[in-house]
Amino acid sequence: MTSSESSLPVPEYDVVIVGGGIAGLTAALVLGRARRRVVVLDAGSPRNAPAGHVHGFPTRDGMPPAELLELARAEVRGYGVELAEATVAAVEPSGTVRTGDGRGFRGRQLILATGLRDVLPEIEGLRPRWGRDVLQCPYCHGYETVDKQLAVLGTGETSIQQAQLVRTFSPDVVLVLHSDITLSEEDASGLAAMGIRVVEGPVAEVSVENDALAALVLADGQTVPCEAMFLEPAAEMDAGLTEHLETDDDGCIVTNELGRTSQERIWAVGNATDPSAQVVAAAGDAYRLAVVVNAKLLEEDLGRAVASAPEAGMVDAADLREAV
Ligand SMILES: Cc1cc2nc3c(=O)[nH]c(=O)nc-3n(C[C@H](O)[C@H](O)[C@H](O)COP(=O)(O)OP(=O)(O)OC[C@H]3O[C@@H](n4cnc5c(N)ncnc54)[C@H](O)[C@@H]3O)c2cc1C
Repeated sequence: MTSSESSLPVPEYDVVIVGGGIAGLTAALVLGRARRRVVVLDAGSPRNAPAGHVHGFPTRDGMPPAELLELARAEVRGYGVELAEATVAAVEPSGTVRTGDGRGFRGRQLILATGLRDVLPEIEGLRPRWGRDVLQCPYCHGYETVDKQLAVLGTGETSIQQAQLVRTFSPDVVLVLHSDITLSEEDASGLAAMGIRVVEGPVAEVSVENDALAALVLADGQTVPCEAMFLEPAAEMDAGLTEHLETDDDGCIVTNELGRTSQERIWAVGNATDPSAQVVAAAGDAYRLAVVVNAKLLEEDLGRAVASAPEAGMVDAADLREAV
């Protein structure tokens, strides 16, 4: 950051929202309609960007993720919300944020809706398939894999439940024990009863033919035919965002039941707090949070109005409107 950038004036908003995915834009829509001054700072990489379609969002099922967000951006602009392309590098406990290119934004309240980054296992050829035929969520993309040859990458205890869930989409499911997973006798018999095969990994490579997943190549050279694979990635967030905030074992931001972080004026929502929140859930949580944040602003507005009223007990509606 140059000295001239750091001395730029810091614009003030009622609410600064970091992250313009579905959670951030839903909060912006509610707060814009509540006539708050809002800016959304967005780096432009929503988590589901690699996927061709969003599923499970009523009226938008099957829409490309970028199109859904473009519609949402157009809606919030209509209510005066400012949108800025920016990557926030630091979040100060006061609610001021700093972007990587040296700009500052101050919010009376700050909402972090930054989502998370999926960390994929190091398997050759895997990353380009992510969101296409290497998938995370059976609810989002299971229907598109009906009756195909399916694999689940065993990376932990939850992979067992994932394999059982995937089995509802196809009779041909194999659980490949890749890492950190040991099956109990009960697990093994349950999987066998559901007709889920178990193969010892690890997986070394994914094999692709005609731009489609064809097989998993195991470290011992064995090949497991497979047209789609499900796995549960680890999560990661930018350190600058969470430096002053409490985080959990996944690195996600810890909030109370209202959505407030360990800092008074900083709130968090969507995948930034809950990796399992799907689009409709992230939007729903963000709507609820926006109402809470607006109530907080109103409480402050009222306090200021009362403090600046000529005499205690003399506040009328016109004074209040003037003061806020
Ligand atoms: C491959 C895949 C497919 C999926 N498919 C579906 C589906 O079909 N249906 C469904 O319901 N769910 C699906 N999901 C889940 C879906 O991605 C999440 O529910 C949704 O993205 C959560 O929204 P969000 O706003 O919390 O985060 P995101 O959508 O990730 O948005 C966060 C935004 O914040 C921005 N950001 C991050 N850091 C910063 C920073 N430092 N400064 C500024 N901006 C920042 C990001 O660039 C991004 O634009 C899928 C997930 C994956 C991985």
